[in-house]
Amino acid sequence: MSEKRTEIADLGEFGLIDHLSKKVKIRNSSSIKGIGDDAAVIDAGDHVKVVSTDMLMEGVHFDLSYAPLPHLGFKAVAVNVSDIAAMNAIPKQITVSIGLSNRFSLEAVEALYEGIYAACDHYGVDLVGGDTTASRSGLVISITAIGEAKKEEITYRSGAKANDILCVTGDLGAALVGLQVLEREKQVFLANPDMKPELDKYTVVTGRQLRPDARMDIIHEFKELGIIPTSMMDISDGLASEIFHICKASGVGATIYEDKLPIDKQTFDTAVELNLDPITCVLNGGEDYELLFTINQKDFEKVEKHPDIHFIGHITKSEEGKYLVTKSGTAVQIKAQGWKHF
Ligand code: ADP
Ligand code: MG
Repeated sequence: MSEKRTEIADLGEFGLIDHLSKKVKIRNSSSIKGIGDDAAVIDAGDHVKVVSTDMLMEGVHFDLSYAPLPHLGFKAVAVNVSDIAAMNAIPKQITVSIGLSNRFSLEAVEALYEGIYAACDHYGVDLVGGDTTASRSGLVISITAIGEAKKEEITYRSGAKANDILCVTGDLGAALVGLQVLEREKQVFLANPDMKPELDKYTVVTGRQLRPDARMDIIHEFKELGIIPTSMMDISDGLASEIFHICKASGVGATIYEDKLPIDKQTFDTAVELNLDPITCVLNGGEDYELLFTINQKDFEKVEKHPDIHFIGHITKSEEGKYLVTKSGTAVQIKAQGWKHF
């Protein structure tokens, strides 16, 4: 008798999480929001706490042959802060857990922490605990971030309504293009170790891959402008995939316009140089850590002139589907690719 065996790859990351979360029972009324958003939301009396965890694994999420340890430490904090930002909350504390192989010296761990401390400084968070263990599979960094907000300020993925305006911060696709450059230079170096990598003209894209910054600046500006987005999430798996999440959670559709999608010039030029389609990089590139959010039309004029917020389309009724209108005016269905680690 053989037992049934299902490959994780058949489910994918999201399928696996959905499958596991079906059996979750919520026992405490303080657990306001559990699995399914950028962070969990926990009632704390006069305010709410938000909690998010992200794990970075050597060989899956980073390659130490080109990721400097201080950058990696910073990034590990930033990606968690980004999930707190995506809830419209302010990060306050982090815990840091590391798995270390015997390849690591004290100096290497200190270099990693240099970046973690720099991020704590930058985001105004306190490192309040963690765990340290040996690892047989390279470096593992798992960070939990805890943030605070007023209950009514929290932005879920589920609040988008038809006719809301879809917005993104910054520009997209840079981190993916940066990764391709770093991989290419690594292969060149492996083939000929005397070659010095030529990275000077790619600092924007490689910087976005190696040391992304969470958009806490935008969250503070929302408060100054008196805006609460109707829905929000951070762009970690690629714009197309995140639009699917917002649409699914909110029960809506969306239309976006190719000519409104923000892409940096260096990202565009480098994508072309690498024979990548720039728009595909924008739609499916991961790890941008920009914010995707929706606002009610009445709030439009408050952000209309913001130099770093781009209006890429609008929310529609669910039955209208999810479409990208190309520069030539054709509507094509959006496909969510996202990053699949399995
Ligand atoms: P993000 O990309 O914003 O970090 P994820 O896609 O990793 O979010 O996770 C989606 C949701 O699933 C989150 O609510 C997260 O807390 C939850 N989640 C992820 N992995 C697990 C797991 N192994 N067990 C329980 N919940 C999980
Ligand atoms: Mg997220």
